[in-house]
Amino acid sequence: MTPDHATLTAWLSRLRLTVIRDQLDSLLDEAARKELTLREAVTFLCEREIARREDRRIEMAGKIAHFPAVRELDGFDFTAQPSVDPRQIRELATCRWVAHGDALLLLGPPGVGKTHLAIALGRAAIREGYSVLFTTAPALVAGLAKAHAEGRLEERLSFYAKPKLLIIDELGYLPFDPNAAHLFFQLVSRRYERGSLLLTSNRSVGEWGTVFGDPVVATAILDRLLHHSQVVTIRGDSYRLREKRRAGLRKVAGGRSVGKCYRLREKRRAGLLGQAAPAT
Ligand code: ADP
Ligand code: MG
Repeated sequence: MTPDHATLTAWLSRLRLTVIRDQLDSLLDEAARKELTLREAVTFLCEREIARREDRRIEMAGKIAHFPAVRELDGFDFTAQPSVDPRQIRELATCRWVAHGDALLLLGPPGVGKTHLAIALGRAAIREGYSVLFTTAPALVAGLAKAHAEGRLEERLSFYAKPKLLIIDELGYLPFDPNAAHLFFQLVSRRYERGSLLLTSNRSVGEWGTVFGDPVVATAILDRLLHHSQVVTIRGDSYRLREKRRAGLRKVAGGRSVGKCYRLREKRRAGLLGQAAPAT
């Protein structure tokens, strides 16, 4: 039985094997070139189909997660942040805590890499097959307050309760009003022991009473958050400022500084910038 090309592609479409369908000739050529047995060839075709589907799934889940930037653990310089234990972070990247619905708190002053690690761990969770949503504390409470005012609070709470991992960045930069604190409490209760929360904050847990503007609500929130949780406290200097300081020490000919920020430093390393890079 030798179906013509059109029939075969129609069958592959029907089976939704779109990767094999779209690359049929090149995949068959490759299988022939490698002199694969029939069994090996079927395996090879399945592998390609699955790998491409997985790439698409990760890409789509990344869009749904709404990460503000692309950050990976590979890009995190652990030597620059000795208070962070690389083993603990790599263990967190296996996402066992997400499977258990535990919470993770990343605490530390501005610029130490909290958002970087939060995004990287969120991307690791997506690779492990979990749904992820990234938001900031101000955006979250604004969304909940708006929904509350419009009589759609239940809908909004369900939206934030759905992803297996909800990342809430920048808790504590802005204090909550009492209504916001109460809405936040409702969300934490809703997710408690169901989905994981990853929170980043520039405030220590002891200061959360001030953040939430109400020690009773803060205690109730912390009670649930800390029940099954890990806390990573990052100490030390802002990475951004450190880079700036370093840049100040290394002036290039003409007196212009090229080491202003991490991004520029990386570009310079990659040889993308000439000696006198424009200061941005
Ligand atoms: P935070 O959220 O704690 O304020 P960020 O994660 O936003 O800090 O970090 C500020 C910038 O510096 C980001 O671009 C981040 O990728 C980079 N950065 C911070 N720490 C590191 C590090 N240890 N290695 C590499 N880049 C870092
Ligand atoms: Mg941040």
